[in-house]
Amino acid sequence: MRTSIQVGKLIGIPIRLHFTFLFILLGIIYGFANLPATEYRIPLGLGGLDMDPLFRYSLSSIAGILFFFTLLLHELSHSYVAMKFGTKIHSITLFFFGGLAMMEEIPKSPEKEWRIAIAGPAMSFAIGGIFLLTYFGIKTLNLAVYRPVEILVFIIGFLNVVLATFNLIPAFPMDGGRVLRAFLAKRMPFLKATKRAVLIGKIFAVMMALIGIMPNPYLLIVEGKIMPFWNIWLPMIAIFLYIAATEEENATITFAALEGIKVKNVMRIERTSVQEDMPISELASKMLEERTAEYAVLSESGELKGFVTFDELKKLSVEQRHFLKVSDVISSFDRIGDIILVGEEAAEALKRMIRNKRNVLAVREEESGNFVGIITRRDLATYIEMLKGSV
Ligand SMILES: [Zn+2]
Repeated sequence: MRTSIQVGKLIGIPIRLHFTFLFILLGIIYGFANLPATEYRIPLGLGGLDMDPLFRYSLSSIAGILFFFTLLLHELSHSYVAMKFGTKIHSITLFFFGGLAMMEEIPKSPEKEWRIAIAGPAMSFAIGGIFLLTYFGIKTLNLAVYRPVEILVFIIGFLNVVLATFNLIPAFPMDGGRVLRAFLAKRMPFLKATKRAVLIGKIFAVMMALIGIMPNPYLLIVEGKIMPFWNIWLPMIAIFLYIAATEEENATITFAALEGIKVKNVMRIERTSVQEDMPISELASKMLEERTAEYAVLSESGELKGFVTFDELKKLSVEQRHFLKVSDVISSFDRIGDIILVGEEAAEALKRMIRNKRNVLAVREEESGNFVGIITRRDLATYIEMLKGSV
C-alpha cells in the first residue's frame, strides 16, 4: 500500500508526505487556533483573542505550513551533511513523529555518523533561536507588532526548540541515539556500541511510558486530584521508540554477521533456473519437487530474462496455470540492480534486495560474465541464522 506521496524535490531529494503527517499538521493548526494566548506565562496559541474565525484559522494554517518547512530544514540538514560524506539520499519523508531521511547507507564511521545526526537538531536550535530572539526582541523593544503575529513567531521558535530537544534524547531512532552510538563506537566494536545504545534507548522508552501513565504530579500535589493519565502521547511515542530501537539492533546484528561473507558463500548453484517457454503447470510441479520458490529465467540461448517466484505463481488461477508459460509471468528485470557478482559482499546483496523489494538476485562471474547461480533472501536468512548459532 502507498502510504506517502511525493510533494516536491529539494537539492535533488524527493520530498514525501506520509499520510500520518496530516494528523500532526491538523493538530498544530487546531491547537494554535484554540490554545490560550494569556492563561499561561507563555502564549500557546490564539485562544481567547478577539479575532475573526476565518482570520484565526488562516494564521493558524500559516503556522502549520511554517512548521512543516522548519521540519523539512531539519531533515535537509541531516541530508546535506550526509551528501557531503558521499552518501546518496533516496528521499525525505515527513510523518507522524517528524521526518526521516532515507539514506543509501548510514556511514559506519563514528566521525561521520555523529556529524550527520547532530546536523538536524543544530538546525532546529538555530531556527528556534532566531524566532525566539525575534519574539523577545519585539517584547523588549516594545515594538508595536500585531499580537497574533507575535504569538506565531513565538510558537514556531518554541516548537523548533522542543523538536531539537526531543531529538537529542539518546534513544534510537532519535538523533541523540545515533550520536550516542557514534560516541560508544569510538571505544568499542560497532555491534557492541549499537547493542549498548539500543539498551539505553529501550530504558528511556520504558521510562517515558511510565511517566506518561503516572498521575499528573502537579494536579496530585497542588490540587489533590487524580487524573489517570498525565500524557497519553508519551506511552505512544515510547512504543514507537522501543520497536524502532529493536529493529535497528536486528539490522545491525544481521549486517555484522554478514561481515566478510561473499555472495559466492551463500549463492545457490543448483536448482537455479528454468527456460522461458516452460509451461506454468510444469513449473509448479518443479517447485514442489525441488522445494524451491525462486528461479532465474533463461532464454533458449541461455540469456538471462528475469525471475519467476512462487508468489507470482500463487496469483494464477487453475485455468491460467494450464495455458500460461513462464515467459507470461516473468517479473520485470533490471540488468544492473538485479545482477550481482560472485565476489561481492553478501551484505551488499541483502541491501540491494531490500532496496529493490526483491527476494532474489542473479549471480554472474566476474571475468566471463556468465550466469552462475542465484542468491535468495531465504538462503541469506537461513545462512545468517546458522552463523549466529555457530558463534
Ligand atoms: Zn533529526
